Amino acid sequence: MKHRLAMVGFGGMAGWHYDLIQRIDDLEVAGIWDIKEERRTYAEGKGIHVYKSEEDLMADPTVDIVLVATPNDVHKGVVIRAMEAGKNAVSEKPVTLCSADLAEMRAAAEKTGKFFTVHQNRRWDEDFLTVKNIMAEGKLGEIFRIESRVHGSRGIPGDWRQEKEHGGGMVLDWGVHLLDQALLLYPGVKLNTVYATLTNVTNQLVDDGFSADLGFENGVHVLVEVGTSNFVSLPRWYVLGADGTAVIQDFGRDGKMVCATGVNEGDVVPVITAAGLTKTMAPRREDTIRTEDLPWADSDIRDFYRNVMAVIEGKAESRIKLDEVARVMRLMEAIFESAEKKQVIKFEA
Ligand code: NAD
Repeated sequence: MKHRLAMVGFGGMAGWHYDLIQRIDDLEVAGIWDIKEERRTYAEGKGIHVYKSEEDLMADPTVDIVLVATPNDVHKGVVIRAMEAGKNAVSEKPVTLCSADLAEMRAAAEKTGKFFTVHQNRRWDEDFLTVKNIMAEGKLGEIFRIESRVHGSRGIPGDWRQEKEHGGGMVLDWGVHLLDQALLLYPGVKLNTVYATLTNVTNQLVDDGFSADLGFENGVHVLVEVGTSNFVSLPRWYVLGADGTAVIQDFGRDGKMVCATGVNEGDVVPVITAAGLTKTMAPRREDTIRTEDLPWADSDIRDFYRNVMAVIEGKAESRIKLDEVARVMRLMEAIFESAEKKQVIKFEA
């Protein structure tokens, strides 16, 4: 079955969707609507059909999917209007600005019987899937801490992302990806506690970075950190187990795992530092550790839309469940609450 998708908002990310859809069978772009004339002109220049208005787009009977790729505060209204017009809706992340708004969107999906999902594309990130592989392999022994970071040094991009009313800030922008991944590390395990701090280095109106400690019921702590004033980046992932440590440097295939061989080290030779000595922090003897390649994962982001089409055709369940999206939204709210109160927040969900 062929599906036709129309885009509301044709900025940077919509362009990415457009290019992706060119490589997907049975899916085509019917056209776009953007409030900015320059973006409409740009789309026309690419030979893309431009609707006269959002209403014109929603009235096209050949369209069965509407992608909403506007600033974050606009998602809710367009998603609801799309479903009321009989379309299935795909919203860019973050789905909206708060749990109450998401509840309204879900109520509209219930009422109209239309499918509505969120483009949580970073579930397909190969670095994240590799961490899942590392956990499944078990070579690190019992994992007690995982650190997930993205670091840039240019502050927040100079547009609506700097303004609170549009849903700006890094918790909603990058946090929504990393927190979604963090919750998927331990499916079915309760998150008990959240402690977070925000940064305002380049922007006073919204957070330009944050650090959140997530305490899971199984005792594992996951640190999630987004920084935009980091001129030296820390690794994308750092996974600590009782028998080894894994590190992934960035979004590419640069990383390693170092595990204990089980060979007894005997007496540790202390390392002498300028102002003292230490056995605890002395490097390990080479035969007591081994370095291994990581179990790198492959993925195909086209599977996001293939799943959307399969759900619409009644052949599959959605890969992105709205309960999961709602949990991430509550977690982002807990992060803001923790940062404001300077307290650990009990999450229990
Ligand atoms: P952008 O500013 O480049 O594009 C947004 C476009 O929406 C603009 O062209 C603007 O004119 C248009 N617009 C605003 N209000 C509108 C309205 N009422 N109707 C129609 N058009 C409207 O922003 P972007 O970087 O493309 O981000 C868009 C969305 O995509 C955001 O929600 C963002 O969080 C998300 N995004 C997701 C990813 C990802 O990896 N999933 C990456 C980047 C951005």
